[in-house]
Amino acid sequence: MDEFEAIRLADYKQLDHAQAAESMDISRPTFSRLIEKARSKVADSIVEGKELLITGGNIDFKNTLHHCQDCGEVIQHPFGKIMDDCPDCGSNNIEDLARPFLSGRHGRGGKK
Ligand SMILES: [Zn+2]
Repeated sequence: MDEFEAIRLADYKQLDHAQAAESMDISRPTFSRLIEKARSKVADSIVEGKELLITGGNIDFKNTLHHCQDCGEVIQHPFGKIMDDCPDCGSNNIEDLARPFLSGRHGRGGKK
């Protein structure tokens, strides 16, 4: 999904890499790696006739929602950043509501 977003911002919306990186809340080098991987997959799909599979659609990329299990606060939060503590009560019992749609993106989550 993040590769899809990279393509969408850079090649579809024609943002430059700096703008696109900022929009995704990631560093420019990270964005460059992402867009390279994404373009390589698209090229592979076209040249090899492979099916292009995009999963986890219908997500607001700029923000995700976190739900505090302790105080019930729902916090809108920039996508891609891990949120550890509730800004309201300081609890670290935070559920990322987008996680079920983002298998693998945030790893296994939780604290060590
Ligand atoms: Zn809370």
